[in-house]
Amino acid sequence: MTSSPSLREIVHLVDGKPFAGSSERTGPVFNPATGEQQAVVRFATAEDVDHVVASATAAAAAWRTSSLSTRAKVLFAARELLAQRAGEIAAAITAEHGKVLSDAAGEVQRGLEIVEFACGIPHLLKGGFSEGVSTGVDVYSIRQPLGVTAVISPFNFPSMVPLWFIPIAVACGNAVVLKPSEKDPTAAVLIAQAFLDAGLPPGVLNVVQGDKEAVDRILRHPDIRSVSFVGSTPIARYVYETGTAHGKRVQALGGAKNHMIVLPDADLDLAADAAVNAGYGSAGERCMAISALVAVDPVGDPLIAKIKERIATLRTGDGTREVDMGPLVTREHRDKVASYVAAGADQGATVEVDGRQASFDADGDGFFLGPTLIDHVTPAMSCYTDEIFGPVLSVVRVPSYEAAMELINSNPYGNGTAIFTNDGGAARRFQFEVEVGMVGINVPIPVPMAYYSFGGWKNSLFGDSHAHGLEGVHFFTRGKVVTSRWLDPSHGGINLGFPQHT
Ligand code: NAD
Repeated sequence: MTSSPSLREIVHLVDGKPFAGSSERTGPVFNPATGEQQAVVRFATAEDVDHVVASATAAAAAWRTSSLSTRAKVLFAARELLAQRAGEIAAAITAEHGKVLSDAAGEVQRGLEIVEFACGIPHLLKGGFSEGVSTGVDVYSIRQPLGVTAVISPFNFPSMVPLWFIPIAVACGNAVVLKPSEKDPTAAVLIAQAFLDAGLPPGVLNVVQGDKEAVDRILRHPDIRSVSFVGSTPIARYVYETGTAHGKRVQALGGAKNHMIVLPDADLDLAADAAVNAGYGSAGERCMAISALVAVDPVGDPLIAKIKERIATLRTGDGTREVDMGPLVTREHRDKVASYVAAGADQGATVEVDGRQASFDADGDGFFLGPTLIDHVTPAMSCYTDEIFGPVLSVVRVPSYEAAMELINSNPYGNGTAIFTNDGGAARRFQFEVEVGMVGINVPIPVPMAYYSFGGWKNSLFGDSHAHGLEGVHFFTRGKVVTSRWLDPSHGGINLGFPQHT
């Protein structure tokens, strides 16, 4: 697509300034609530990426010499500016992603918590010191920045996911090249501007807009040392394989199919509330959304009745209005999600609530689908096997806890899961046995706090490091161990043997 002069144009942010780049290629940015295109976003060429990386490389060399207290001060200031501008960032997210304003504000808040964590960088980067490992010899460990790091983020959390990485990367002394989703690119620019206004030197945090062409250059650029990717599993696998083949450290967080088990002793009202909140919040476009509800006999019928009562109260519409759920991100995505409902019905499932027939509080032709509930889903159906990423809750009925566990552990994804029960022993057994990275016990969306690390298992994460927390600090630094002896004539003499400490 070529750019239209009447539409707002979203460009790159390089060296602290807007940068149009050399490409004529652009992509459309829609308002999903009205269906109208509201902006165009520039798509970087490989040469544009090279330009950004050159700026970041120069900035990284200077930034790594800044003191820890200088970096902490910038982070504290960024935290204040982001908090002041949270409303503006949330509004941009609602306008381009579609999620309701309170939900957008919630993701900005979760992102801010990572900035707060990174404010403690002087403490987080403390190394070890051993005095006198040998006579007159000391050993100490330090962690140093990587250089230029890249962050490639998905559409569904336009502020929180970039903020999983940026604060820690810059606090550790790196420069960052952020490539946000082309579907909702404005929040990334607002975040980067807040960091720059907070005193981060130009070039330390850059935004490059684009699609596969930009990603492919990032994955191969010799001066980019690491890639933090979040997105769908096929692209995550590609990013991991390509990035590591080009010598980069890569953490690539992928898709999900999150199961929530409800045991017969659970409080069914709380479980129904949780299933609705976690299934339909953000229109199901959360990597931690519950998409498979595993009802252990005999809870299926009463649980479904309670969920249906709650769905009847949900309002779907324009996220700037008093509604619970907004649209899906694009028309194509809405149609794809709807096709899974049709496929489920064709394959023998029962569509208990059909969001294709819902009505919506919005003007125009937005990308809406109402909350959908499908019962009697089996593991062979496409609405179970695929990550739908929409407001569709599939109920799988199983006879026992063991069958529920077998279902979850056979699934190729392992991002989040939850168990609802009043039996402490069952919950403890679940946390021990389940092969999933983030586990909730009577908590449906167990997103770890900033000072823990976020990440799944199996096809939900390629690479060793989870995001933020201490694993984030580890990912964005390299370890070095120094063995030191201050010269003393008594240490002289030739000895070709392997050093031993006495
Ligand atoms: P996506 O994989 O389509 O896009 C993610 C990023 O990759 C974007 O920046 C996009 O521009 C880029 N990209 C897209 N196609 C590409 C290609 N062919 N080659 C190189 N780069 C490409 O994902 P999305 O639709 O933006 O986001 C939704 C997905 O992200 C879901 O699968 C969801 O589960 C996942 N997600 C996972 C987590 C997690 O923590 N595991 C968090 C959020 C989202």
